[in-house]
Amino acid sequence: MRYFTAARIHDGVQFVDDEQVLAFEEDGTFHGFVAADTVAAHEVVHFEGLLMPGLVNAHCHLELAHTKGTIPEDTGLVPFLGLVVETRSAGEEEKQEAIKAAITALEQSGCIALGDIANSTDSLPQRPKANMHLHTFVETMGFIPEFAAQRFEYSVNVYQSFKAQAQPDNGYVLSQSIVPHAPYSVSDQLFDLINTFEEDSLISIHNEESAAENEYFRSKTGLMQDLYQRLKVNDAWFQPGGQNSLPVYLNYLSAGHPLLLVHNTFMDAQDIDTLNKSGHEVSLCLCPNANWYIERRYPDVALLAASGINICLGTDSLASNHQMNVYEEVLTLKRNFPGIPEERLLAWASSGGAKALQLDHLIGSFKPGLKPGLVHIREEQSARIL
Ligand SMILES: [Zn+2]
Repeated sequence: MRYFTAARIHDGVQFVDDEQVLAFEEDGTFHGFVAADTVAAHEVVHFEGLLMPGLVNAHCHLELAHTKGTIPEDTGLVPFLGLVVETRSAGEEEKQEAIKAAITALEQSGCIALGDIANSTDSLPQRPKANMHLHTFVETMGFIPEFAAQRFEYSVNVYQSFKAQAQPDNGYVLSQSIVPHAPYSVSDQLFDLINTFEEDSLISIHNEESAAENEYFRSKTGLMQDLYQRLKVNDAWFQPGGQNSLPVYLNYLSAGHPLLLVHNTFMDAQDIDTLNKSGHEVSLCLCPNANWYIERRYPDVALLAASGINICLGTDSLASNHQMNVYEEVLTLKRNFPGIPEERLLAWASSGGAKALQLDHLIGSFKPGLKPGLVHIREEQSARIL
């Protein structure tokens, strides 16, 4: 058995009482809390600061790791998307090295599970080498209905490559599902193909990341409409419905699909109401540093926190963030939303993410039998101990 203690301990849900010692079995399985006076003092490793379970980054894009530092801040989402497309090309070796470095940084900063978006098989070779659980969201997009079948076929091929990969012998779980990129970039036909491909699969989507998205859905005007005209995308089929994107695309997804809605920067109270009535199991992923990077705007965190919906954290890619450490997202929320207790923010970074990625039977909290990992936080730095 290995014993650890610290000035403060968060169990993934809440802070626990003082004088507790964490007991782990040699293979990393959490055995339980024991009283300090029941263990010989020299057997216990003491930390200053805080101990908590492994962090979960529920939304990132490993395949964009090579774009770090190439895209300026504060461009707004629509120009940002154009810049990402332009900077995508890089040599195979450069891309693999960048993905490898990003995974190493994630491991060192405390990450134990990752929700990773993939448009290609770029992240495939590095995936089994990561010391973390990894769910790959194979992302598909295409707003022209006539091309839906062709686009989907490409994504199915990418998905099959990930699915064919053997589970690593390090005990971490690799999984994958096909998901839509965003409401404004997926046609109704493509949504249908995604919905019926795999029953009850975990679906993530970039949701209400910009005001332009909701403006397009409400009235088919604004920056998104300008972009489609410039790119000569024929969107004649699309009929604006006077409401946000969320209630429109929810109609395409059966309630059996758990949803991971990412960003939610322009989500309002009516959207929350729609979600609560939808029958879906929902998680909201906040990526505040990326929102600030791209749009200089944060979601209505107080509204989302009060919604009763599971909340988790992500970083988005190195195209729109300076690093992929979820603890930096905690710090940003702490500074900008002092009304949300730190206890809750740390739960979003651990058990909230585990639930969102359907890994709460393995990680996310200090419950006996789980292998939650162990993270040490001190002076605004996080590091993985187990
Ligand atoms: Zn993203």
